[in-house]
Amino acid sequence: MPYDRRDSGEISDQEEDDDKKSGRAQGGKRRFDEFDCPTCSANNPVGDGFGSGDEVMCNYCGLEFRVQVDDEGKLKLREL
Ligand SMILES: [Zn+2]
Repeated sequence: MPYDRRDSGEISDQEEDDDKKSGRAQGGKRRFDEFDCPTCSANNPVGDGFGSGDEVMCNYCGLEFRVQVDDEGKLKLREL
């Protein structure tokens, strides 16, 4: 490692990452790579990722859900 950021005082990159993770920066265009099934609570990773308007299926109980993402980047799943 030629350069250690921890000693340089540069934390802006890290703050940007946190914003992306929370989804605030992306709002309704946020994409997810996993979801918790509203019916059986199983955690489902989605390899290709998904976003608002997509449909996802729970690998455990087999139910399908329509994905909605609100302006704050919050994930909502509606059973189909
Ligand atoms: Zn399920």
